[in-house]
Amino acid sequence: SEYADISLKDIDQVSKSSFPLCMRHLFEKLREDHHLKHGGRMQLGLFLKGVGLKLDDALAFWREEFTKKVGSERFDKEYAYAIRHNYGKEGKRTDYTPYACSKIITSAPGAGDHHGCPYRHFSEDNLKAALSRMGLSSRGMEDVMDKVRNRHYQLACTLTFEAVYGTSCDTGINHPNQYFEESQKILKS
Ligand code: SF4
Repeated sequence: SEYADISLKDIDQVSKSSFPLCMRHLFEKLREDHHLKHGGRMQLGLFLKGVGLKLDDALAFWREEFTKKVGSERFDKEYAYAIRHNYGKEGKRTDYTPYACSKIITSAPGAGDHHGCPYRHFSEDNLKAALSRMGLSSRGMEDVMDKVRNRHYQLACTLTFEAVYGTSCDTGINHPNQYFEESQKILKS
């Protein structure tokens, strides 16, 4: 990406400072459970590729977590292929692009899944707790919840962005990688 090619040593810090809630959630769950189901691996994996995580770093990143639960051989057999595939290094060699909000919002996470859009898929209590961890005031949170109740999920995310960074985001949020880029612009200016 234009602003930051994330490296492995910075990834935890950057996840807290610049990831939208959907990706923060996946990232935290991966660190916590050392596993993500397929939908989560795709959503987070393609996002990380979009922010400039190189293939070798991506393999090291997923390997570090997954091998806390499964053996190295199983990781190579079952998971590494899919990661290389996302980077266009296997199969049809398509260069897969990160998911936009519209695709994430209309996904249908099942039990045990952590992908999806928190504004759309979290319970009200879980969403409020997550927003409070992002530092929103109760006033800011009420504005966000108001958008959520009216099913304006991207606007809810845009308001969160504006509250977190203390600046307006006139274009609105329509892509997790756009959220990341805009946030890096602000943090690095
Ligand atoms: Fe992620 Fe988009 Fe939902 Fe924001 S609106 S949490 S960027 S899917």
